[in-house]
Amino acid sequence: MKDNNCIFCKIANGEIPSSTLYEDEMVRVILDISPASKGHALILPKEHYANLYEISDEMASHVIKTAKKMAKKMQEELGSEGLNVLQNNGELAGQTVFHYHMHLIPRYQGDKVNMKWENGKLSESSKEELVKKLSL
Ligand code: AMP
Ligand code: ZN
Repeated sequence: MKDNNCIFCKIANGEIPSSTLYEDEMVRVILDISPASKGHALILPKEHYANLYEISDEMASHVIKTAKKMAKKMQEELGSEGLNVLQNNGELAGQTVFHYHMHLIPRYQGDKVNMKWENGKLSESSKEELVKKLSL
């Protein structure tokens, strides 16, 4: 399913031109227009899913397989020494385009990418509560 008002649906399906790195019947990989680092790319499903909560299992596994292929290519061709895989879900989490996408952000010595947060402490009581609540 496509969403007519969604820019990433249009890009993924080739209705709006993009810097495409890879394409198959399920996904398109493009260069991010405002890259965090050299080679910053986005994997876009060709079907519209707003986020991880909505994406199909089949698409989710295809996206991660594509990420693995692109990661290798980036390492070989760009000499990146690391890679951040990032995927934002919901405005609060920093999502700005509400069509599922996975960021691939190659990392280099001295780059300007910052993904740090303050580490907290896992108390015994919250550990117990969380294991109880979140065990599948
Ligand atoms: P997020 O904040 O996770 O929703 O990421 C959205 C990303 O899409 C940002 O990194 C933007 O720079 C990128 N972006 C937005 N519009 C375009 C576009 N037309 N072509 C390529 N990347 C885009
Ligand atoms: Zn869409």
